[in-house]
Amino acid sequence: MKLQVASKILGANERIANENANIMKGKGIFSINLMSSPGAGKTTLLEKTIMTLSPKLKIAVIEGDVAGSDDAERIDKLNIPVIQINTGGGCHLDAGMVQDALKDLPLDGINLLFIENVGNLVCPAAFNLGEDIKVMLLSIAEGHDKPLKYPNMFQTSSALVINKIDLAPYVNADIEKIKKDALSLNPSIKIFEVSCQTGQGVDKWTDWLQTLSS
Ligand code: MG
Ligand code: ZN
Repeated sequence: MKLQVASKILGANERIANENANIMKGKGIFSINLMSSPGAGKTTLLEKTIMTLSPKLKIAVIEGDVAGSDDAERIDKLNIPVIQINTGGGCHLDAGMVQDALKDLPLDGINLLFIENVGNLVCPAAFNLGEDIKVMLLSIAEGHDKPLKYPNMFQTSSALVINKIDLAPYVNADIEKIKKDALSLNPSIKIFEVSCQTGQGVDKWTDWLQTLSS
């Protein structure tokens, strides 16, 4: 596990994102920019996903956080390549940070790369990292108003994973409204309902990932 501190000013983000896309395509890697608010369960979803798909698929992870390396340490325990990026206060990852991480990751033989973005429902949607797709993770504990309040996150995502559905009896969240509003913003968005705690629904998500990366 490596820790990187990135403090790049944006500018040529789009150009660098294109370079990243070419680097990953050249290695046959399918990449996913995983976005959510803090605490929605991104790292837990990655743990479950890796436990299900590895070693069938060779997976690597780039962890983005403002500070700390807790998430990378969790992924590191699963014995797959992981790099922690600390944005040093920045509220999203940019393409330059990801390019630096790509230089340090052993990319040969990797099928699937997850880029866990900084927990934030605003700017991660606006910064292309060179990924193949964006995926939005929303926990029902955050409430059902998020799609209409943060539309860009849902409009730019190929899939929406609704997490913590085991909490449905305890929180006042209307899952049908989340789905209806997400589909109104993005009619082609693929929706999964999961509980990373109980494992419910995770198989549908991992089945879908296998169709993408093969
Ligand atoms: Mg995390
Ligand atoms: Zn930001």
